[in-house]
Amino acid sequence: NSTWKLLRRPVGMLQQGDLELVHEPVQPPAEGEVLVRTLYLSLDPTNRLWMSDTEQYLEPVGLGAPMRGVTLGIVEQSQAEKFPVGTLVIPHEGAWSRYQTLSATKIARLHLNADLPLSAYMSVIGPPGLTAYSGIVFVGEAQPGMTVTISAAAGAVGSVAGQIAKSRGCRVIGIAGGPEKCRWLVDELGFDAAIDYKSCNVAEELRRLCPDGIDLHFENVGGSILDAAIGNMRIGGCIALCGLISSYNSSGAVVGPSEFQLVLMRRIAIRGFLVMDFFKRAREAYAELEKLVLAGKLKWKDHIIDGLQNAPDAMNLLFSGRNEGKLMVKVSEV
Ligand code: NDP
Repeated sequence: NSTWKLLRRPVGMLQQGDLELVHEPVQPPAEGEVLVRTLYLSLDPTNRLWMSDTEQYLEPVGLGAPMRGVTLGIVEQSQAEKFPVGTLVIPHEGAWSRYQTLSATKIARLHLNADLPLSAYMSVIGPPGLTAYSGIVFVGEAQPGMTVTISAAAGAVGSVAGQIAKSRGCRVIGIAGGPEKCRWLVDELGFDAAIDYKSCNVAEELRRLCPDGIDLHFENVGGSILDAAIGNMRIGGCIALCGLISSYNSSGAVVGPSEFQLVLMRRIAIRGFLVMDFFKRAREAYAELEKLVLAGKLKWKDHIIDGLQNAPDAMNLLFSGRNEGKLMVKVSEV
């Protein structure tokens, strides 16, 4: 087996030596267990948080332990009747590993639609899609006519969030890095406008594009982008706080919004949420996402890196904006 283990807590971007690729014999499954071969490993901004020991929603990955990650795999050996060899499964807790020996109680079967590529279950109809849906529908309660803004809008979560809001009759403005990503949002995904935060004053652009204020802001970044959004919220508006990627690589205290008093003056509701809060409503979300995808109304990009050995280098792409869509590693072939 090959497994990436965490050797030390990274400082800033992930460096060589923060993780180590360890080769060990595969552990055969005991009664009630299966041996799962990983097909895809999802690389997510939150992986960087799991490597740190700051307060978070799960235990930080321990030093010397296998790196945690969302995976999709196939049962290769089985000692569990419910999961015969060849079953596609999602482990409850995956790892940056080629094989995992797991109890049948710690995996879920994947129900595959043959019209969709397997990688889509890591992206548009996987956790990023559910995150996007939860933020727009369950948290933000998007309604027709609302003005919705989204940061990291060309990313896995942001791009889906924007299209869900469009499908619900909202006016949608994305914030993303660079002209290519902005063009993709408007020309291909149907966003009403996009702001290139690398070349524009975001606060001024939001003021120009949202003269009556933002009803719902979907935040993925934090820092100055969140400041610009707060300054342009309408009275009683809502911020669905999904992520703060601009601070995941920093050590020490994260500086809060500089215009925080506006949260009071404009009675803004800020609600942080985690995708796992909505697992119980996943069926409803996935049904709608799949319907939109099959109708050609929801587009997405998967950015697939070949080979488990490339996972740590690939993860840094998320923090330099060089990922194009949902970043994942193809660990092995079906
Ligand atoms: P993306 O595919 O959006 O990739 C990350 C993108 O973030 C980059 O491509 C880059 O886009 C942008 N970015 C990175 N660093 C900065 C920075 N310093 N300032 C501005 N933009 C930056 O990743 P995901 O879709 O997987 O994740 C997006 C957000 O959603 C993250 O904050 C993540 O933590 C959060 N998330 C939250 C979940 C939850 O349960 N609450 C679940 C899943 C994700 P650009 O080129 O535009 O700068």
